[in-house]
Amino acid sequence: MNPITRVAVVGGTHGNELTGIYLVKKFEQLPHLIRRSSFESLTLLANPKAYELRRRYVENDLNRCFRQQDLEDPHLRSYEALQAKKIYRDLTTGKTWERGLLIDLHSTTANMGITIILNRQHPFNLHLAAHLAVVYPDLKFYRWDQDDHDSPFLRSIYPFGCAIEVGPIAQGVLNVTLFQQTEALIYTILDYIEAYNRGQLFPTKETLTVYQCVQTIDYPRDETGTLQAMIHPQLQSKDYEPLHPGDPMFLTFEGETIVYAGETVCYPVFINEAAYYEKGIAMSLTQKEELALD
Ligand SMILES: [Zn+2]
Repeated sequence: MNPITRVAVVGGTHGNELTGIYLVKKFEQLPHLIRRSSFESLTLLANPKAYELRRRYVENDLNRCFRQQDLEDPHLRSYEALQAKKIYRDLTTGKTWERGLLIDLHSTTANMGITIILNRQHPFNLHLAAHLAVVYPDLKFYRWDQDDHDSPFLRSIYPFGCAIEVGPIAQGVLNVTLFQQTEALIYTILDYIEAYNRGQLFPTKETLTVYQCVQTIDYPRDETGTLQAMIHPQLQSKDYEPLHPGDPMFLTFEGETIVYAGETVCYPVFINEAAYYEKGIAMSLTQKEELALD
């Protein structure tokens, strides 16, 4: 058994997602809350300038800046590109980072409850997720393909860990219930690592239900990029609920319904996420999969 040697709790990767930012500020004030005896704990406010401006980012999305080729590219000199290089350097100093675990705290305007975004499909990450699924039966688990190879996400700096998305919550807003639920989840993760490092095993599940992103869908737009429709009222806030072929997806400004044209049932998430309008994403379509745990 190889212990986890370092845990980084990161908030403010997006400067207007206050849940993670204020949790990190709390842990900076009260470091004993995240300290455990068998590993080193650290905190990071990832995009302080964006936070000062109360914006998601200054020049470009920090959470898309961590591909190895971009970290090594001396021509990339935006504020976030430089910040990504600094974060990478800071988090990979010393020896203990090679078995480091990173928890990246985010929030979403979509009605996703508490979602764990799985980092790589390493057995440890899956076992941690399965433990969390036992403790918190309402938790959801989501995966992007991009997490597997040359990931652009901050969470990919360390081999272990996850991102936590909580919502629905507006950008720039705190919600005490989501704050406390996220905080409790962090302590559960830290306690699991502490127990794992001591060789303690937990009863676990045989499979983990994971929502695997298969496709993202943009809003209908005209050639100038102007929206032609909104999320359909029957789909709004229905994250993780099944969407069948022919179900309403968008409603045009003239009141015409546009349906889901796919051939199989899917489970949309990040429905109407505010930060994704500029990314051309109205929702992410997922398939529900049962991952076997070894
Ligand atoms: Zn975010």
